Amino acid sequence: MKGFFRAEAVARVEAVSAEEYLYFYPRGTSTVRMNDNTSPYGPAPRIREMLEGKMSAIIGGLEGCTYYPDQTAYNLRQKIASLNGVTPDQVVVGCGADEVIDMIVRVFVNHGDTAIVPLPEYWMYSRLARIGGAKVLNPSIGKPPELKGFRPERGKVLFISNPNNPAGNLFDGETIGSLAEEFPGIVILDEAYAEYAGQSLTSLVNEYTNLVVVRTFSKIYGLTNFRIGYSISSKEIAFLLRKIKNPFNVPSVSQSLALEALSDQNFVNEVRERNASEREYLRERLERMGVTVYPSCANFLLVDFGADCDPIFNGLVARGIFTRRISQPGYEGCIRITVRSRGENDAFLAGLCGVMGGMP
Ligand code: PMP
Repeated sequence: MKGFFRAEAVARVEAVSAEEYLYFYPRGTSTVRMNDNTSPYGPAPRIREMLEGKMSAIIGGLEGCTYYPDQTAYNLRQKIASLNGVTPDQVVVGCGADEVIDMIVRVFVNHGDTAIVPLPEYWMYSRLARIGGAKVLNPSIGKPPELKGFRPERGKVLFISNPNNPAGNLFDGETIGSLAEEFPGIVILDEAYAEYAGQSLTSLVNEYTNLVVVRTFSKIYGLTNFRIGYSISSKEIAFLLRKIKNPFNVPSVSQSLALEALSDQNFVNEVRERNASEREYLRERLERMGVTVYPSCANFLLVDFGADCDPIFNGLVARGIFTRRISQPGYEGCIRITVRSRGENDAFLAGLCGVMGGMP
């Protein structure tokens, strides 16, 4: 090797101290996927058809392969805007909610700024804020999480997921509004699971100029692999986000599918109802097994197994059933379980009975 360039000595300290994301993401047909809060129903029927036969039409003919995608995602932003009662210049599209959140951090966080990430959190918040150079504070908001009466310290950015991931509960508009009113920095309201709850607070962005709502096509729309999410905010914030975003970040295929997905709200309603009934089915049976299940309006359930959590999680993995272990302070005994289809839910319940039955 030539030269003595030592990358770590030169890199930003936040990159050196970040950790590579090595989470084992299971794939295969024999696994039960209750770990990633994605939809067992996949995308809407029209999209299935498009994917099966019309790939070239989606990108505007095969010559579309060599064009860069529309960097403004104009058609998609128009549709998002009309569904949410905002204007297209309040909408910014990115490669999943994660990229959109990262863009917000890149616009607002200076080195050494404070980011407030209440616990329990969606783990990417602390990670993205730290990599962005923020000092991260993780105040607890209790178990189950509660924002009424929560008075965060002053900071540049405050992260809230609504419904909360991992707990699944929903905060109301009044509570979010008064937080946004009092907080001096940007409030990121992550509505990745809002469609499951049937409540969205996007209209609040016209009232609170520091509020940014972030949403995704990865969950109820079943388009996880196409990496597409968006923000709704004031025009001023959206303009700043557009200025720093990678111009051609979202492929045409993803834009077209997302646009089509928004046109089928019947499918969204159907998945919401199926999810709610499967969630109730799982909740009832889990409670009968004597474990604590937190009320959820999302597509997952937070289950408290107490001290025996690790053997249960590992026992399920050994049976090909993947769930999400939550080891945040106060939630050490908890596992998050994605609500899936009846077959997978039954396989999970049978596996769990087997694991718990075999325990002393
Ligand atoms: N926010 C929350 C609360 C999530 O749970 C997830 C996905 N696990 C995301 C954002 C990321 O979504 P996307 O796939 O759109 O990046």
